[in-house]
Amino acid sequence: MKARYNYRIYPKSHQLEPLAKAFGCARVVWNDALWLYKKASIEGQPIPKDVDKLVITQAKKTKEREWLAEVSNIVLQQSFRDLQTAWNNYFSSLNGKRKGQPVGKPKFKKKQSRQAIRFRKGGFRVHSQSVKLAKIGHIPMVVSRSLPSEPSSVTIIKDCAGRYFASFVVEISQPIPQQTTKSIGIDLGLTHFAILSSSEKIENPRLHKKMLRKIKKANRRLSRARKDSNRRKKRQLRLAKLHAKVKDQRTDFLHKLTTRLVRENQMLAVEDLNVSGMVKNRKLSRAISDAGWSKFKTMLAAKCDKYGRDLTIVDRWFASSQVCSCCGQSGGKKELDLREWTCLFCNTVHDRDINAAENLNRWAGGQSDQNGVHKRLEFPQATTPHKNERGSKCQTTVVAVCDEPSTTYKQLSLF
Ligand SMILES: [Zn+2]
Repeated sequence: MKARYNYRIYPKSHQLEPLAKAFGCARVVWNDALWLYKKASIEGQPIPKDVDKLVITQAKKTKEREWLAEVSNIVLQQSFRDLQTAWNNYFSSLNGKRKGQPVGKPKFKKKQSRQAIRFRKGGFRVHSQSVKLAKIGHIPMVVSRSLPSEPSSVTIIKDCAGRYFASFVVEISQPIPQQTTKSIGIDLGLTHFAILSSSEKIENPRLHKKMLRKIKKANRRLSRARKDSNRRKKRQLRLAKLHAKVKDQRTDFLHKLTTRLVRENQMLAVEDLNVSGMVKNRKLSRAISDAGWSKFKTMLAAKCDKYGRDLTIVDRWFASSQVCSCCGQSGGKKELDLREWTCLFCNTVHDRDINAAENLNRWAGGQSDQNGVHKRLEFPQATTPHKNERGSKCQTTVVAVCDEPSTTYKQLSLF
């Protein structure tokens, strides 16, 4: 299987200019090619043949684009190929040939956003403390861990905060995970980031919220700076650095959590949350985005795949907080401020969130460590909802107005 290995690189001052040129030329090739594609598409013409020759080889001969010859040709070719892939992916996603999330139309690249160039074999070489790039030279690299195999390509990235990274694509063998029979249900929330069926509650770090005061201040200062001034650039960088820090902290938190969960359990169950629908709620969108549920699920899925674990995505309409995880009887709707309740059928006292996590665990076929009930619970809500019934596809702008993700919009009536 393929994996990416990322390293921070520190270009020397004389390498900054050739790097900037390479980023710029790759961007121009992408934009020129995209313009030709779009033009053909609007006019209803077939896409002209050999666009790469038009935007690279032919363009180098013109006065406006003669500087394209100053950078490595590999970078330009790769930039064009990336656009081709993006364009094809967009259309196959549109006709339904490509499965999964819909792919957006390729966009024109901007000078201010993140920049990237890609080198393939022959265009780069890895050394113990550096990476050598064609027409740029040796760039010092912090090798935090050694590469497992010969990389097939490297992407050099400059992010908005002005940091440089090298991202290698390498072939890795599937790791042999520790044998375990444990299973776990994970209920995601905002008060706590995750509540596990093992009764553990994981704090929500609220990283963006902690940085919010600084971010707001940086934003205010930026808005007061004159357009195109050096001061504006400086303040832009300051803001970008704050955002980058939050992103890094969140990635770190999510990596550590998902790795631990995947390492310790064979069966994992999470709820299928409609995150993109939930962030439409203006009151909660910031808190939901800050939590990083989507990233958590992506990471969890990737790691389960890597380590051969079973991940179950539990139906969005499964009422995980209503059913008693002990006897499987539905206790009806619970008010949101009700944190603890007693089951009327078996007299078990439940913590609301842990009960929900335990239900998710059971749904996936896992068994509780505490009481060892083997029965897989049958839940009537699992079937596809009928038209007009709860859970059917219907248009609603506000999807959740409460502080936990397991919300169905019936619960909106509470507010
Ligand atoms: Zn019960």
